[in-house]
Amino acid sequence: MYSDLSLDHFMEGLRKRNPGEREFHQAVYEVAKSVIPFIKENPKYQQAGILQRMTEPDRTIIFRVVWEDDQGNYRINRGCRVQFNNAIGPYKGGLRFHPSVNLSILKFLGFEQTFKNSLTTLPMGAGKGGSDFNVKGKSDAEVMRFCQVFMTELSHHIGANTDVPAGDIGVGAREISYMFGQYKRLKREFTGVLTGKALEFGGSLIRTEATGYGNAYFMEEMLKHQDKSVEGKTCVVSGSGNVALYCAEKLNQLGGKVVTLSDSSGFIHDPDGIDEEKLAFLKQLKMVRRERIIEYAKKFSCEFYKGKRPWSIPCDLAFPCATQNEINLSDAKVLVSNGCKALSEGANMPTTIEAIQYLQQQKLLFGPGKAANAGGVAISGLEMSQNSLRLSWTVDELEKRLQNIMKNIHRQCVEFGDSDGYMNYVKGANIAGFKKVADAMLAYGVI
Ligand code: GLU
Repeated sequence: MYSDLSLDHFMEGLRKRNPGEREFHQAVYEVAKSVIPFIKENPKYQQAGILQRMTEPDRTIIFRVVWEDDQGNYRINRGCRVQFNNAIGPYKGGLRFHPSVNLSILKFLGFEQTFKNSLTTLPMGAGKGGSDFNVKGKSDAEVMRFCQVFMTELSHHIGANTDVPAGDIGVGAREISYMFGQYKRLKREFTGVLTGKALEFGGSLIRTEATGYGNAYFMEEMLKHQDKSVEGKTCVVSGSGNVALYCAEKLNQLGGKVVTLSDSSGFIHDPDGIDEEKLAFLKQLKMVRRERIIEYAKKFSCEFYKGKRPWSIPCDLAFPCATQNEINLSDAKVLVSNGCKALSEGANMPTTIEAIQYLQQQKLLFGPGKAANAGGVAISGLEMSQNSLRLSWTVDELEKRLQNIMKNIHRQCVEFGDSDGYMNYVKGANIAGFKKVADAMLAYGVI
């Protein structure tokens, strides 16, 4: 049945079964391209239809969320949880609240999470969920009511040993707290059912920083492998959420110079470098919950480019930390022609397939998100461990563990990524992530 495992044939079947799901097709294509040759060398995976099974979520739960706004109007959104794969641990992955959320985006994210979580070396399966609810422009009370209704339905499907959601775009400490409170009220149970919790009720130190820190560490590992380092390099970072801000913070600590950050309205270019003090200003801005990177330009009198992304600014290293498909082929060409030597993805799938292909042809070091941004979910995994043990580790302990995990992820990528002298981290991450999940699925037999 699975004798014709050509990439084209496989993708044709996937597109037919999942019509119109562009982002999901894109994420699967990128994985299938590197994993199919590996499967052909290991027929046991082919016989058991492992790739076919891994591209079909275990289940998808879709539900209506009705909530009342401050004017007393009933408002309706769609909620969803895609439980993708639990071969190596409970379903694990974030919740995204953003108007762009649809099934294609949640499936791409859930699929990516399978490989990412596998690479962390921790026992976590993969899931993703969310809603088309827009947190922007809503009052605290509206966000609370939405989160409570959302959790009322979601609570039937999750649990500390079944499915452990966390944050993602639009879901931060405030939303996690409202949802955790509601879960606790409904189930009368205090368990580690969500991660990204506040420290007072079971959260982990450095969870907020972990994705960004991890991304900077991953870049440092890629460079170290070539006897180079972040020290002295000009870094272009997009985004201004936790991933971007803490990636910038760690890059500064590693001796890099961060010159850009962005939000959906545009980007700022500060050639003097966005140092610790300036970052502190932005962290404070973020707490006011408004995307206003322009405030930075006003305060520190630097250039603000309205409606633009920062890829035209000359740099040595690039860190897309905003959202999917924020770097297309022409952005990639500009980056390379301006001398960029390496890119590490803080966001999930921020680079289009054509852009990745071009960057790799140009021999640019390319760290894919499923490896480079795995630090966040890794600390989520350690939050689960701490909850189970009913204790909390120190910052030192957790930073050491995070650094080790990122080193380990890099090592796994290198093990499978060598392509005639060029280190293909996409291939390495895909095969290493695939192998662990595939071997577990094989061991279970036909289920
Ligand atoms: N949303 C994050 C990611 O894309 C974190 C998920 C988690 O902590 O479970 O990996």
